[in-house]
Amino acid sequence: MKRRLFALCLLMSIMISGCGNAAESDLSNEDGSGSDPSGIPGGGKWVDSDVVFTVRSEDNIRFQDDFAAAANKDYIASAVLDPAYEEASIFLDANKLMYERYMEIASDEAMSGDNAERYKALVKLYSDWDERNKLGVKPLEKYISDIQSISSISELTQYQGNTTRNPFGLGLLNPEAVSTQLQFPDKSTLKLQAPKLSLGSNSSYVEYTSNTLAAKEKNDDVIFYFLGRLDFSEKEIKAILKGNYRIETFIARNSNIENFGVGEMFTQAQNTREGLKTLQGDYPLLQILDSRGYLKCDSFYVDYSYLQSLHKIYTEKNLEDIKSFLIVQTIDSVKYLLDRESYEKMVKLYMNGADNYEGISDSQNSVLFRNDIKICGFLPLLDTLYLEKYYTDDEKIDKINEFTNALIKAYAQILDEEDWMSEETRTAAKGKLQNMALHLVKPDNIADYSAADIKSYEEGGNLVEAAAEGRRMIETHMAVKSADSNWDRYKWDIYDASRTTTEVNCVYYCNENGIYIMAGYLAMCDAAFGEDASLEQFAGIVGTTIGHEITHGFDSNGTKFDLYGRQFDDDKIPIDWMTPQDRSKMDEKASKLAGYFSLARPIPGQQKVNGNAVKDEAIADMGGVKSVLYAVREIPDFDYDEFFRAFARQYAEQTTEENELDTMKSDMHPLPFHRVNIVLQQFDEFIETYDIKPGDGMYLSPEKRVNVW
Ligand SMILES: [Zn+2]
Repeated sequence: MKRRLFALCLLMSIMISGCGNAAESDLSNEDGSGSDPSGIPGGGKWVDSDVVFTVRSEDNIRFQDDFAAAANKDYIASAVLDPAYEEASIFLDANKLMYERYMEIASDEAMSGDNAERYKALVKLYSDWDERNKLGVKPLEKYISDIQSISSISELTQYQGNTTRNPFGLGLLNPEAVSTQLQFPDKSTLKLQAPKLSLGSNSSYVEYTSNTLAAKEKNDDVIFYFLGRLDFSEKEIKAILKGNYRIETFIARNSNIENFGVGEMFTQAQNTREGLKTLQGDYPLLQILDSRGYLKCDSFYVDYSYLQSLHKIYTEKNLEDIKSFLIVQTIDSVKYLLDRESYEKMVKLYMNGADNYEGISDSQNSVLFRNDIKICGFLPLLDTLYLEKYYTDDEKIDKINEFTNALIKAYAQILDEEDWMSEETRTAAKGKLQNMALHLVKPDNIADYSAADIKSYEEGGNLVEAAAEGRRMIETHMAVKSADSNWDRYKWDIYDASRTTTEVNCVYYCNENGIYIMAGYLAMCDAAFGEDASLEQFAGIVGTTIGHEITHGFDSNGTKFDLYGRQFDDDKIPIDWMTPQDRSKMDEKASKLAGYFSLARPIPGQQKVNGNAVKDEAIADMGGVKSVLYAVREIPDFDYDEFFRAFARQYAEQTTEENELDTMKSDMHPLPFHRVNIVLQQFDEFIETYDIKPGDGMYLSPEKRVNVW
């Protein structure tokens, strides 16, 4: 995880139309010299201040010319790049701060009770590298031998259904999550998923590219490494890999849920228990699910054509190959939970660090800890204890509630003032706003891990066994949840791994019309300004991000979902709350915005920005700032200078040119310095605060402004 991941517009995986077409290239745009140079963002007065050595301490940069560079100059001057990520940023600082707090929880003697004890026991197992090294890769052996001992298909079925033997839920089609149904936002469904494949996407198995070969080389390396350390012979390992790839190829060629059309999603992918019985044929899916505790579930979301194909491969003849596949899946499940040597090897191979960096950096350590706790199935426990320690008084929660309500109110006013919308669309937009589900910091329940049995090293325990226990806790909860056919989008379940509050992130879910503001994101403000940040600093970082998430309900993609998060009515007919005229006016505004971004070439001689790809995030950024500016109008003596500087500090970053170019290719967010400069120049309050005039780098005349809302 190298790039910031916050504020993604996630649609879970039952997404109908893509989140914008990021692929469209910008090659058709000629260099700005042929057009009006004043149309280029910054008019030639901005530098890409995210990149190291671009801003020097002796440079005299005016706020009026390049706000991001000027406001973050002190941060830039003292930034020390993390060697693994080759980056310094408030985002990484916040992650490090979170990690310090996770460790404080583990050493806090005042925290007691079953939950705290389980967590402390887990952290002990995790941190004791001497003991981990003594065990080496041994904890893996028991699970692999068990798979090897399977002698028939019926025994394989028992294995798949047994949470003690198979705690990581491995198999050919597995329960993934309980989530909302596609066209019925008040109904829930158990999502069944084909397993993750070792070469990545399904297409890797259909068409061999250089990516396929590189992924295969990596995977072979990993399997040879672990099985080699468990004394498997080269011949045995090769046979296991061969069997594994045969099964993976079958899975890749028969599962295609990503390509389902709307009709199939509505009518064929969603099934009752009876429906599954018909689809499964001779594959014992229900038997496996029932053994794992899903007896009372009657609503499933499944790749029906894949399920129909499984009986073909689930035969005695293929038993050895399926076992090989399960061995590879087992290694994948626990590869981060063994000794230091294997850990460093896996981090190097999979965690995307700098090529020339050996070892694990401090920032990486903090990111990896969360990742490992997640693998172990203990994130809900960490979330619970984090809130217990750092959110004891209601004051902090009340502040967020109050601020969010003020932003909703401000947003209603913004909608009232939009002169391009018809009354019909305005009413619907306000309805959507009022029906937005606001999930602020605290989930509605707390996790209970008192039943988790965690043995210390002295008692014969290890991290893999603790993870097995944690994963059973998660699955037990998922099974209970699957029995309830109602989905309440106003509720926040702490066991739901896709919305964990300790993540340094915030999210808007289009298909629930709901925002999630994570406790972890509030650490951005703590990392930048300490725990006694002023109202302006809080508004600059947290306030604008809450506004950003609200705006996702009204960006080009978000507007395609209604107040409940639906795109279709009960008869599967598309519904649009915008009139066609208003929709095309909105599209026009969004493409003006995209066009403006596309003129920017942040690094001289390199590619231009793909405005279409970053459009929705830019709309959300601008809406976020605008809603805060509306909300603070009622606050006397609000310090705008402090607010705008805090907003800039949220995106303070130093990185290499290479990383910056990668971000431009792969991130749907604009570059950090654009998130400051292009966003702020849209607003009169900003222009007035710094007395910005035509000819200054930050000036943008009102008729050239591109904010949609
Ligand atoms: Zn966003």
